[in-house]
Amino acid sequence: MLNDYETLAELLFPDITKTPEDYENIYPPRNLKEGARVTRFAPSPTGYLHIGGLFGALTDVLTAKSTDGISFLRIEDTDKKREIDDGVSAIIEGFKAFGVEFDEGVTGFGTEKGEYGPYTQSKRAEIYQTVAKSLVKKGLAYPCFCTADELSAMREEQENSDALIRGYFGKWAKCRNLTLDEIKQNLADGKPWTLRFRSDGSDDKKVIFDDIIRGKIEMPENTIDEVLLKSDGIPTYHFAHVCDDHFMRTTHVIRGEEWISSTPKHIALFKACGYKVPKYAHTPQVMKLDEDDGNKRKLSKRKDPEAAVSYFVEKGIPKESLIEYLLTLLNSNFEDWRRANPDSDAFSFPFNLKKMSSSGCLFDLIKLTDISKNIISKMNGETVLERTLEWAETYDKELFDLMDKDRAYALGILSIDRDCPKPRKDIAMWSQVKDYIPYFYDELYTPEYFLPGSVTSDDAKAIIDKYIEIYDENDDKDAWFAKIKDMCAPLGFTPNVKEYKKNPELFKGHVGDVSSVIRVAVTSRTNTPDLCSIMKLLSRDKVIKRLKTFREEI
Ligand code: GLU
Repeated sequence: MLNDYETLAELLFPDITKTPEDYENIYPPRNLKEGARVTRFAPSPTGYLHIGGLFGALTDVLTAKSTDGISFLRIEDTDKKREIDDGVSAIIEGFKAFGVEFDEGVTGFGTEKGEYGPYTQSKRAEIYQTVAKSLVKKGLAYPCFCTADELSAMREEQENSDALIRGYFGKWAKCRNLTLDEIKQNLADGKPWTLRFRSDGSDDKKVIFDDIIRGKIEMPENTIDEVLLKSDGIPTYHFAHVCDDHFMRTTHVIRGEEWISSTPKHIALFKACGYKVPKYAHTPQVMKLDEDDGNKRKLSKRKDPEAAVSYFVEKGIPKESLIEYLLTLLNSNFEDWRRANPDSDAFSFPFNLKKMSSSGCLFDLIKLTDISKNIISKMNGETVLERTLEWAETYDKELFDLMDKDRAYALGILSIDRDCPKPRKDIAMWSQVKDYIPYFYDELYTPEYFLPGSVTSDDAKAIIDKYIEIYDENDDKDAWFAKIKDMCAPLGFTPNVKEYKKNPELFKGHVGDVSSVIRVAVTSRTNTPDLCSIMKLLSRDKVIKRLKTFREEI
């Protein structure tokens, strides 16, 4: 004979024939070494990857990697309001662009790998319902027939009262004590129902959990009869979290701090199901300083373009740079590790959740840019060319075509002042390459004629005349600079900057002014990489032509 709870369970879930034990066998405990951590990143398929998401995913992947564990990507598509058609691909692309790789889980729109799937919640309905059915059998869950109107009337009444706890519990939980006959009648009448947890918590008791990042957290027990399954049979976040992280054998739930307040609920649910409660680590939010009031605030999808990971892809920030920067935010000891391991792959950093700060971390584009300049300065010309082309093919077709039509010339440009003890640090992202090279391509070059510093027009003309006389495109850097120095004295300039600084009144200027005139004449810039190398690439004809035009125009 079935007892009432068992009868109810059959009534509510007639099609569910499996038991949770079946799933225990389908998803056995993972065979990993002692101390290995299983982590997951669990976004909703919104088609948008927030920088905080990349930050969280990096935490998951590195936590698993540094303990020989497993990280996986689960798509949480139970909230149909947040979902867009293919909201998965953009997220996956964001991870791919920055080299963040999960061991298991969703790999694309409709694809996945791993033995603990399906990794998309909408494909796991039977699992949730099986666990739900078992809770009903144990008297730990019940159907609720309250309508949306009834629930909002309840909320209103609670708001107008001085009740400290609000929600469906105690005397408010009208359906908690319906008899089996009443339930049968409601079902026969075709009334829609949700499934609620029958909480036995009491708000004068505390639940304590150890958050790995924040330490001991003490909160009142959950008293709310939370919805587990919505009326369409789809689970709420709370219930899906418990079922999925149990059967996917997650050991460490790393998630945003906005979930701290729900944790007592989750712990109660894990216990009701008879499952081991995972370890929790609630990560801080990614913040920025507001441009207007200078206050710290959350990086916002609406206000801040840099909140989207795609922003960094479009700008051409190398993946190494963004990861390096995020790691400096993630772990306080990353910079020390980097100093000791200058050439190691950032993903081999022995990440430690305990070293993560619990307060919001400040995302600073300027710091990211500095880190990126440093990283790019260590790349050789071939790499810079390859990465620039790869970026430009999608984001700047004009640049791509120019560089692609003569790759040797482009390589020459990008190799200037690179692969040497003191490389230039002027490029932070591939979208900046174009700004650095217009004088190499007639298609991009609009000459500007101006006099650098305090050089007069007559002096500039004399410098150009002299330079055209001695210019030899075969001179190497040293010979070239020796010639520039030799030009100085006869023109009233000094080759010695120190001497000039001592007695400026004795000279028209110093060697830097002389080379500046030539630099501006050839490139329209006062600051460029090595000028001798630039002229060699441009070829004699072009250099002479630019020198002559400059002379005429000033
Ligand atoms: N889908 C949840 C979110 O997007 C994930 C929270 C979690 O990691 O458990 O916030």
